[in-house]
Amino acid sequence: MIQVINLTKTYNGKKAVDAVTFTLEKGQIFGLLGPNGAGKTTLIRMLTALTKPDSGTCTVASFDVRQNSAGLKKIMGVMPQENNLDRELTAYENLLIYGMLHRVDNLHRRIHETLGIVGLSERKDSLVSHFSGGMQRRLLLARSLMTSPRILFLDEPSIGLDPQIRRQMWDIIRKAKMDRRTVVITTHYIEEAEALCDRVAILSKGKLIALDSQDNLKAQIGEYLVEYVDGEGHLVQHICQSRSEAQTVAARCEDGVTIRKSNLEDVFIKLTGERLE
Ligand code: ADP
Repeated sequence: MIQVINLTKTYNGKKAVDAVTFTLEKGQIFGLLGPNGAGKTTLIRMLTALTKPDSGTCTVASFDVRQNSAGLKKIMGVMPQENNLDRELTAYENLLIYGMLHRVDNLHRRIHETLGIVGLSERKDSLVSHFSGGMQRRLLLARSLMTSPRILFLDEPSIGLDPQIRRQMWDIIRKAKMDRRTVVITTHYIEEAEALCDRVAILSKGKLIALDSQDNLKAQIGEYLVEYVDGEGHLVQHICQSRSEAQTVAARCEDGVTIRKSNLEDVFIKLTGERLE
């Protein structure tokens, strides 16, 4: 569905995206995980023809993204990180203008459908300026769904939302996958990547460090962690390949030792030496 080869973008002599290569199958939720500044937005902007790469190629559903063709625009929906809704218009009017620009068929019906998907039907005639942050992000998501795109690109879809609202957002994104859409999201929230993504790409300083299913990424570093706090108050961790190895290590450790399964955060720290937040 998406093929990226050696995609590179440099700003002020620094590589924001550094020779990134991957392929992505259709029908999956694919996460680009990395801290602020890792290059996620630059990468997603190149995939959606909003930023021109310095070098490399990117093909989305057999369209060369550099051509920025009308055909490409028809199959993709984009939810940007910044809120570029028109705050002086209602939810309905925002979708109406977008739909007219993109020549959406059965426009009024589609507006009602997308407002229903994101749970904003009752607020269709409210000004966006009266919406909470969570409602505005849901409306941005509704707008990206207006053209019934085969591929959805969501840049930090739940940024700044509180945990409960974030979960509502995740349900809508899972529904998009059930509707057979391919979804690409960027996130710096571990829980978001863990909750949603079939495959995760770990990005650090513009480079793609790893890309695999969550289970394979965890297996790559070791599936279990033995943890305890030492006499000086430092957290000590041992990564183990199996539960029996973890139990053997734990038996040699101090009181208060715990064994747990490794998570994506452990993978991230182990592979990049960085923390996400
Ligand atoms: P992320 O989305 O992971 O936070 P970005 O892609 O926004 O990362 O940024 C990656 C790097 O590229 C950062 O160092 C950022 O400052 C730089 N960068 C991104 N966009 C621009 C731009 N338009 N002009 C100059 N530098 C940029």
